[in-house]
Amino acid sequence: MKTVCTLIIVLFVCISSIAQKPRVIILATGGTIAGEGASADRAAYTAGKVPIASLLKAVPGIEKIAAITGEQIANVGSQDMTIDIWMKLNKRINEIYANNEADGIVITHGTDTQEETAYFLNLTERTDKPVVLTGSMRPSTAISADGPKNLFDAVTVAASPKSAGRGVLLVFNESIFDGRDVSKGNTTKVDAFYAPNLGPLGQVYDGRVAYYQSAMRKANKETPFDIAGVTSLPKVGIAYMYADADPVAINNFVKDGYKGIIIAGVGNGNFNKAFYDAIAEAIKKGVVVVRSSHVGSGRVTQYDEVDDKTLGTIVSDDLNPQKARILLMLGLTQTSNRDMLQSYFFTY
Ligand code: ASP
Repeated sequence: MKTVCTLIIVLFVCISSIAQKPRVIILATGGTIAGEGASADRAAYTAGKVPIASLLKAVPGIEKIAAITGEQIANVGSQDMTIDIWMKLNKRINEIYANNEADGIVITHGTDTQEETAYFLNLTERTDKPVVLTGSMRPSTAISADGPKNLFDAVTVAASPKSAGRGVLLVFNESIFDGRDVSKGNTTKVDAFYAPNLGPLGQVYDGRVAYYQSAMRKANKETPFDIAGVTSLPKVGIAYMYADADPVAINNFVKDGYKGIIIAGVGNGNFNKAFYDAIAEAIKKGVVVVRSSHVGSGRVTQYDEVDDKTLGTIVSDDLNPQKARILLMLGLTQTSNRDMLQSYFFTY
C-alpha cells in the first residue's frame, strides 16, 4: 500500500511539473542555424536547409525548460529576408498571444538581417510577452556549431517571466540584447552581435537569466504602428555617403517613386555639396529624407553642421541606417508630416 501511495505521489509531481512548464513556440525562418555544409571542417555551406524539428533534436535538455513546438514560417538565408516574411511573423505572433497558445516565442533567423527583423517586430508587436530572436554563425554541420547553444539560451530567455515587458529581444553568445540597439558587428565570429550605444540588457548562462538594465524604447500594446490591415510598406531606400560621392542613388530613388530616403552619412550624418543639392531637390518633390550615419555608434544630432530646418531633413537619433529605414517605412504608413515623423525618431 505504501509503495502504491509513493508511486501515486511521484506520478502527481511529474504530471504537475509537466503541466507547469512554460509553453514556447519556435518560429523558424532559416539562416545559418539551419545551414548545412558538405563537411564539418569546411566553411562553404547553404543557409536555410535544416527544418526546425531536426534543429531541436541537436539541443539536449531543451525539453526540460519548456514544452516546445516548432513552426516553419520560411527557410531562407536572411540576406533574402522580405517585408512579406516580416508581415507573416507579425501576424502569427499576434495570433499566438491573442489565442494564448504560448508563454514565449523564439524566432530562429539568419544573422545578416536579424537586427532588422528584431527592430521591425519591436515596433509592431502588440504584446508584453517575450519574443526572442536567435541564430548562429556556424552551420549545424560545423565543428562547434553555435546554433544549439544559442537556441537553448533563447528558449531559456523566452520561457523566463523576467523577460516579459522588455520588448523584442535578441539572444546570442550568452548575451541578451534589446531589439532596437542590437547590431551585427562581426562578419564571421561567434560573438557577432553587440549593442553599440547602450550595451546588452543581460546575460543567460547555465539555464539562468540575469537582467541588468531595461530598454525604454520598446514594443508594447500602445505601439502606433498597427500593421494589421497593411499589405505593403512605402518604399524607402538608403544612400551611402563617402568621400567625393555622387548622388546617383538619391536621384534614382526619387525617379523610381520612393517615398523616403535614408542618408548613411559620414560622421554626424554629414554629406557633401552634391548630396546636399540632390537632397534639397528630393525634399522639394515630397520625398522624406532622414540623416543617419554609417559610423556604427552615436547619435545624429539636429542643426549641427547641417541646418535641418532650412534643408527640411529629419535626424535618425541613434538608429543606424538600416533601422532608420524600418522606422521611416512604418512612420510613413501613419503620416507624411515632417515634425510628426521626427518625433517618432525621438520616441521609438
Ligand atoms: N547569410 C546567413 C544568413 O543571414 C548568415 C547567418 O545566418 O549567420 O542567413
